[in-house]
Amino acid sequence: MQATEQAIRQVVQEVLAQLGNGGRTTNGTHRNGDWGVFQTVDDAVAAAGDGFKALSQRPVSDRVKIVQCIKQLCTAQAEELGRLELEETGIGRLDHKIQKLQIIELVPGVEFLKCDALSGDHGLTVTEYAPFGVIGKITPVTHSLPTLASNAISMIAGGNTLVCNPHPAGRLIACEGARRINRAIYEATGLENLVTIIENPTIETANEIFAHRGVRLICVTGGPFVARAAMASSKRAIVAGPGNPPVVVDETADIDNAARSIITGGAFDNNLLCIGEKEVFAVETIFDELLAAMPRHGGFQLNCQQIDQLTKLAFDPPKDGSDHHTLNRDLVGKDASVLAELIGVQVPAGTDLLYGETDESNPFVPEEQMMPFVPFVRCRNAMHGIELAKEHEHNFRHTSIIHTRDVRNMTTMGREMDTTLFVKNGPSSAGLGLGGEGYLSFSIATPTGEGVTSALTFTRQRRCALVDDLRII
Ligand code: NAD
Repeated sequence: MQATEQAIRQVVQEVLAQLGNGGRTTNGTHRNGDWGVFQTVDDAVAAAGDGFKALSQRPVSDRVKIVQCIKQLCTAQAEELGRLELEETGIGRLDHKIQKLQIIELVPGVEFLKCDALSGDHGLTVTEYAPFGVIGKITPVTHSLPTLASNAISMIAGGNTLVCNPHPAGRLIACEGARRINRAIYEATGLENLVTIIENPTIETANEIFAHRGVRLICVTGGPFVARAAMASSKRAIVAGPGNPPVVVDETADIDNAARSIITGGAFDNNLLCIGEKEVFAVETIFDELLAAMPRHGGFQLNCQQIDQLTKLAFDPPKDGSDHHTLNRDLVGKDASVLAELIGVQVPAGTDLLYGETDESNPFVPEEQMMPFVPFVRCRNAMHGIELAKEHEHNFRHTSIIHTRDVRNMTTMGREMDTTLFVKNGPSSAGLGLGGEGYLSFSIATPTGEGVTSALTFTRQRRCALVDDLRII
């Protein structure tokens, strides 16, 4: 099994390397780059700086063309690129890797930019939303290319260019994506190096980007360490940090819809999404009914002993006085059937999610497991469920979900949780416009408060005042 995995990895690396070399042309060698892929941070930032100057000379209609190029590329090549991402990272599901690229078309572009005007006795003042310049970007392994593509749309629509330090375990697909995006932009507009990327990213190159004089703003998408590092940097940071989204189900809920939604959200890409349902608090009067509804939608229930076995494989006990269990990264993003096999359980074909009853002390409840097992905790009533949800969300203020027909319970949970996304009676993905109203982004800025990022997030306000004229009424 391991030899096969290793062989696949090697083939993927060779294919991606060949694709990369094939793209090397005179147009792509600017400052030693290869269609935006650079060896050093200095070169990447300098090229993105030149890219920014060139973009600034162009009309907004060129940004519209660029956004279209990125969307078309993601849609047309979703299958190939999704497969390459899965083969390189070894986490998640092929159908959802493909879908994550197909939905890039839902990321808004320049239509989100606006212009505010004030007209009065002293004339006319307009506030316009201007670019920052070069933005430093850190991407996660959980969605390497989708995050890069989504951010590229928002940042370029806002008039910026970017330099990306991808997650090392998803760097090949991010670099290949950057090459293809730059090539498509060049063919459509003649512009180069709007998306630059470091070929061999490390923590040191990330820190170089954080500190670089040519970088005006940073935007990171990732877990607690990179979120803390970005917030400690001297530059303004937009931080899309970790989550541990709880679900509360009360006695008034549509139980079948709750079960279906938990599986739709929690099983998506094997629960890699930061918004994905990670633990459920259900009131005891409907607890058994909810558990019984899960298999109708692709759930498979583990018993206590099986959950204990899986817990021991998925987490190491807390060390050095910490109260955090350590997540075993080897299990992250694996299929439900693979997790089940590890504990000697065969699940029916089509099983999307494992689940079962635990108490709140099981590490699957407080930790962000990023794998398709979701613990269900029995609670006395909705208030008890909301209390536990609050505790185990850890004030990340990321995402929370409730299934209820009781408007008071919705309101109480919304107020208590104070999360960036709060979804009622649907899967977590409804909070990103997938089955709910709204728009998509792969970076949801949580601790820094910008929310679901868009072109407007990556702009600065500039005011232009004309004194005593142009009020025409
Ligand atoms: P990760 O934190 O392991 O890595 C993210 C990136 O940060 C990588 O590129 C990594 O190389 C870099 N990095 C890590 N520590 C760093 C440091 N000290 N200084 C500089 N760079 C550093 O996260 P991951 O496993 O790739 O992604 C999963 C995490 O990201 C989860 O916690 C998930 O909730 C979160 N996430 C959040 C959002 C959001 O929009 N809020 C979106 C996707 C993922």
